[in-house]
Amino acid sequence: MVPGNRQLTIIAQDPSVKDANGKILRANVRIPYEALGPGPRGYRVHVVDYDSSQRVLYHPWQIDDGTDLFAQSPDDKLCSDPAFHAQNVYAIVMRLLARFEAALGRRVSWGFGGHQIQAVPHAFADANAYYSDDAHGLFFGYFPGVDGKPVYTCLSHDVVAHEATHALLDGLRNTYTVPSHPDQAGFHEGFADIVALLSVFGLPDVVRALLHNTRAGGECVYVKDLEVDKLRSTALLGLAEQFGREASRYRDDCLRRAVQRPPRKHALQDASFEESHRRGEILSAAVLNSFIHVWAARLSTWLPKTENKVRVERVVEDGADAAEHLLTMCIRALDYCPVVDITFADFLSALLTADLELLPDDGRYKYRQVLREQFEAWNISPASGTQEKAEAGVVPEWGAWERPTSASLLNYECVHRQSLEQSLDEVFRFLWENRRTLGVYEDAYTWVISVRPCVRLGPDGFVLRETISEYRQSLDLEARQLPSLCKGMKKPDRMPNDAQVRLHGGGVLVFDEFGHLKYHVRSRIDNPSRQNGRLDYLWRNGIRDRLGRYGFSDGSPQGQRFALMHARRDGTVEEMGDWDE
Ligand SMILES: [Zn+2]
Repeated sequence: MVPGNRQLTIIAQDPSVKDANGKILRANVRIPYEALGPGPRGYRVHVVDYDSSQRVLYHPWQIDDGTDLFAQSPDDKLCSDPAFHAQNVYAIVMRLLARFEAALGRRVSWGFGGHQIQAVPHAFADANAYYSDDAHGLFFGYFPGVDGKPVYTCLSHDVVAHEATHALLDGLRNTYTVPSHPDQAGFHEGFADIVALLSVFGLPDVVRALLHNTRAGGECVYVKDLEVDKLRSTALLGLAEQFGREASRYRDDCLRRAVQRPPRKHALQDASFEESHRRGEILSAAVLNSFIHVWAARLSTWLPKTENKVRVERVVEDGADAAEHLLTMCIRALDYCPVVDITFADFLSALLTADLELLPDDGRYKYRQVLREQFEAWNISPASGTQEKAEAGVVPEWGAWERPTSASLLNYECVHRQSLEQSLDEVFRFLWENRRTLGVYEDAYTWVISVRPCVRLGPDGFVLRETISEYRQSLDLEARQLPSLCKGMKKPDRMPNDAQVRLHGGGVLVFDEFGHLKYHVRSRIDNPSRQNGRLDYLWRNGIRDRLGRYGFSDGSPQGQRFALMHARRDGTVEEMGDWDE
């Protein structure tokens, strides 16, 4: 064991996924060491095993520091022992949290403000699982399977990782649960699925099991099975199908559909893709197909031309490395995503820009080029535009994406560099002094919500230091006032003149290690295309807050939002329509 870490046994994907000997495929994962209390109860995750349907509180499990008691347990014990279920959830959530913190180079908070999230492995007898920020927790249900035995959603790696990703994303951008353009809810779902799949793919045991082909001999794989289409159907589709094979009553087949769906240029304009899970499939499809292309590109550098079989180990290693790299890119991109109203185009720009900052050269495997191509297949271009000289889509110009063209335009005299890394007020001072240069809408209520210094390590050991700060803006007005706000701003058709409307805006300020602004990812209050699109969608779907405003304020009903969204995976119930503040 590496000092500072603890190794724990988890179910690699799902109890239905077996190894070559027909036993449940397990993985040994490494997570940060901490002195755990019973639960397990750690500094960020507290497993509270209360079953509200049975009204049973299970005995809290105390993880042994010396040995992992479940490493050699028979399959039956893993499936039926609540203590293992507690360990499984604790280990998967902690592994994911550590993954986010390593990628972002700083601590990551939960969205509800507290330090310890509660994870409830047997929360209720129902085919559902969700994250609730009101209740500060992750709740996993159980239900009878086809053979009559209970199916526990807490034993499906992808379900636990998907819900934990919602919680982590909520901590980084809590405005993303506010109803907005349909891309935003689609982003929450698609991103959670991408993180779940790539983090399972980062486990070499899983990749090995997917590629296992008895005809080729246990340790080998046919070279012809390693082309893009074959990898997509055996590995990616294979895993997508296993996702929720057991928990299929809970999981709709989002990932399977995402992997199988051929790209369509006009899907985002199609009303049938407005529902969040379906829309999220587009994002998953673009990123997961990128993963397959990069994996194939890595393999092409060494696969022999003259042999028909190769040893599986290096293939597995390349797959796991490609998944890890892409997962790191996706998490790092969050810091470059807009504060409010994210679109898939924004996310693509963020992916490209965050990666460029660490790796000026796109490297051997062309991750950024592959991502651009796969998003383009869905007609998604970087929000920052593609007319750049150096590399398409990454170096933002003035507009929604900004890099100050001349540092001399900005006034740094008013601020102290060290305070700028720590103080919300200092960042606000900088913002206010430079509001005209930065194009901040002056008449809106404006506040700085975070300042986060971070240190990131590139694959080549290169260290990048940045401070990421976010500010928000809101403006309340009557619908009749919209056209006077700026040229092009419209009142949605048939919206009453006196309807109350709230507009959101804000920005992310990325400072370099010398305290100079590198990027300003701006969501303008006075951006007509962004605001019109959002208001039209909210108006068309009758979405408003409890004060009757179109366009929610922050906060929101928190508690049940993800529960509702997940209960509606069959798509039969209207999405978000009855969210209330
Ligand atoms: Zn979800």
